[in-house]
Amino acid sequence: MDLFDLPGASSGPDSPDSPVCSAKGCRAPAVWVLAWNNPKLHTPERRKTWLACDEHREHLSSFLGVRGFLKDVVTLAAWERDSSAADG
Ligand SMILES: [Zn+2]
Repeated sequence: MDLFDLPGASSGPDSPDSPVCSAKGCRAPAVWVLAWNNPKLHTPERRKTWLACDEHREHLSSFLGVRGFLKDVVTLAAWERDSSAADG
């Protein structure tokens, strides 16, 4: 499976200043957070995150969506606000 080839597929939005889109070769500032879960690898409450710019949100979310992995799509601002207390 190619799922983990994307450069941003490691641990989510971890550069506080200017996170960039997770799409291959894209250096655009991230605007969206795609929260996903692979039930074969992760417990149900676990959330992996990819970042996306406006241009790649559709592409990345459909990539996850067709596999049934996509759980949520929120703006980066909303994600950081909501997740500051979660996930360790
Ligand atoms: Zn992009």
